[in-house]
Amino acid sequence: MLDFDNTMLPYTSKIPTRELLTWLDGMKRGGIELCVVSNSKKAKAAGFCKAHNIACITHSKKPGRRGIRRCLARFGAEPQEAALAGDQIFTDVLGANRAGSLSILVKPIHLHNIWLKLRHAAEQPFIFLARKRRITKP
Ligand SMILES: [Mg+2]
Repeated sequence: MLDFDNTMLPYTSKIPTRELLTWLDGMKRGGIELCVVSNSKKAKAAGFCKAHNIACITHSKKPGRRGIRRCLARFGAEPQEAALAGDQIFTDVLGANRAGSLSILVKPIHLHNIWLKLRHAAEQPFIFLARKRRITKP
């Protein structure tokens, strides 16, 4: 499972990087099923997924479990068989953990406004504590 905004594409662009396209292709060739699970209500994520033949669930309301569960049900997967990669602790990581899946925190692509910067700053104590507990690697 993949978050979309600021995990796959920045908020400010609809154009994927070559690195993202290469990564997506590698995952598909490796037999890894992908599903975007996004809180977005905009058409951008769904349009991208349709263009790149990726399953997509929008309006997922992470950290709620409903969207994640819909994704797992679509693939007939148990929570422990799946991981969710995303850029936000309070939505992506918390949602994945609540659903019983592995959470993978990635660096946000671009913190282009003060609200994203403030949210990212609020996440830093949790990142620090997780590193200290060796839940994540530096
Ligand atoms: Mg995001």
